[in-house]
Amino acid sequence: MDSDSASDEGGEEPKPTRAEPEAASPFPAASPLDGSALSAVKATGEEGVAAAVARARKAQPGWAGTDLRERIDLLSKLKGRILSRAEEIADLVHRECGKPVEEAALAEVLPNADLVDYWTASIEELLEPSTLELDALSYPGKVGVVHREARGVIALITPWNYPVAIPLRSLIPALLAGNAVVFKPSEITARSGALVASLFDGLLPAGVLELVQGGGDAGAALAGSDVDLVVFTGSVATGKRIAVACAERLVPCSLELGGKDAAIVLADCNLERTAQGIVWGAFTNAGQNCASIERVYVERAIADKLTERVVAITKELRPGVDTAVLTTQRQCDIVRRHVAAALSSGSEVLAGGAPEEGSLAFPPTVVKIASEDTPLMKDETFGPILPIVVVESADEAVARANDSRFGLTASVWTKRINKGHEIAKRLRAGVVTINNHGFTAALPGAPWTGTGESGHGVTNGPHALSEFTRPRFVLEDRNGGKRELWWYPYTPVLRAVAFGMAKARGGTGFFGRIAAVFSLLSAVPKRLMGG
Ligand code: NAD
Repeated sequence: MDSDSASDEGGEEPKPTRAEPEAASPFPAASPLDGSALSAVKATGEEGVAAAVARARKAQPGWAGTDLRERIDLLSKLKGRILSRAEEIADLVHRECGKPVEEAALAEVLPNADLVDYWTASIEELLEPSTLELDALSYPGKVGVVHREARGVIALITPWNYPVAIPLRSLIPALLAGNAVVFKPSEITARSGALVASLFDGLLPAGVLELVQGGGDAGAALAGSDVDLVVFTGSVATGKRIAVACAERLVPCSLELGGKDAAIVLADCNLERTAQGIVWGAFTNAGQNCASIERVYVERAIADKLTERVVAITKELRPGVDTAVLTTQRQCDIVRRHVAAALSSGSEVLAGGAPEEGSLAFPPTVVKIASEDTPLMKDETFGPILPIVVVESADEAVARANDSRFGLTASVWTKRINKGHEIAKRLRAGVVTINNHGFTAALPGAPWTGTGESGHGVTNGPHALSEFTRPRFVLEDRNGGKRELWWYPYTPVLRAVAFGMAKARGGTGFFGRIAAVFSLLSAVPKRLMGG
């Protein structure tokens, strides 16, 4: 394990519960921030992945069989571990990803403590079996109960942009619900992934949480292995590959994919708040955020004022200090290409532009868009670029916002809250915020989900439990009668009962219903006597 083990408040030195990754494999060796060396990571080979899944498979029934209260008590300890290692976590994410320490602390530490509180406080109620209401006349003596069972072994495959928060959002509820998890962090942020796994050291029985390290090969091996569910956050292209692998094995997958979020600005908005909010929504983590604002549609009446203020605020930001550096050269190349293509079709850079050659500190950039027929407006850019489009009306803004294959989050900026809600209903997005953007991923009770190519997974909140559990319906029958109405033999009396029931339920109007009830009063006892 690369990262240090955590120790419990005054407790014994925790023992590692996961297997060491094996076999050397290339991972980024240097920090995107300053080129300083990062610690070595060992990749897990294909056999190692299969062995990790087998260990998880073996451990899972015992873990699911523990008392839920015991699992809650164990996982409650995570909060103290996360908070006591706040600086270590923020510093590692800062060095490995290149995001400012402030952002690392705010996005990768604090919401995780809230996650622990939320799930440990609510899981008992959320997993409580529910009794199904059954009509005593049609189903005499029967009691039905819906239980929520753990899925089994879950493969968790995550990206590099929020390397601590994203895995924890799934790990905590998945483990509380009684699953075992095999976790593969992004190869770009393998050390942060190891740190996440180390937070659980000594808390879980061996095999309940397995860490495997590696790139696409390890991910593909894991997605195609003997798991019961794949929970994936990452790009659309990889998400489609995972969906195919899961279809081959007929196991479900949860996909949280890319975005091209729109911000709709109405003429009556609070100008200063809107400009500040949009700048943050576009440039936090240098736009390497699935919910980054990547399109602004502003009503003409306020467009000049908004653009002027957005440009002024943007020019005050220090690239690489207030905004993250881009985490990879590949990402930097994509962002450059998108900006260059937009410029070649007549768009104009109002602030920023491009980084110095060889630097990943891409300056926050505002672009006035001339034509939307360009990758900057169609594909996910995942960089610090804020494209602005002027529209004539809110209706036009909604139509343009919805004209995308993505549908993750969107925001509406207006002082008319009712108008904001009306627009929210018409937007094709999993999350809509009025006068804010993107931060709701940090609210553990709020579902985070998308439509279209943003995927169908749900993270956070009670709905997320549908990913990590499956319903099991158990019916008990205390009816002591010899047989049910609908069992053999099929007779003319049964036929009369069946059609009588259809009439009694409203098939022939009010008087037909009354007549049917009387005919059933004689037919049903006959049937129960064997007729
Ligand atoms: P990616 O798809 O390249 O990689 C994601 C993970 O998949 C990594 O762990 C990678 O090793 C693994 N992987 C790669 N090929 C694989 C394969 N064939 N089979 C199985 N696993 C494989 O994505 P990325 O570049 O790490 O992340 C950026 C993307 O993630 C962006 O599109 C972003 O919008 C998206 N994202 C979405 C959300 C959300 O909540 N919707 C959150 C964060 C990031």
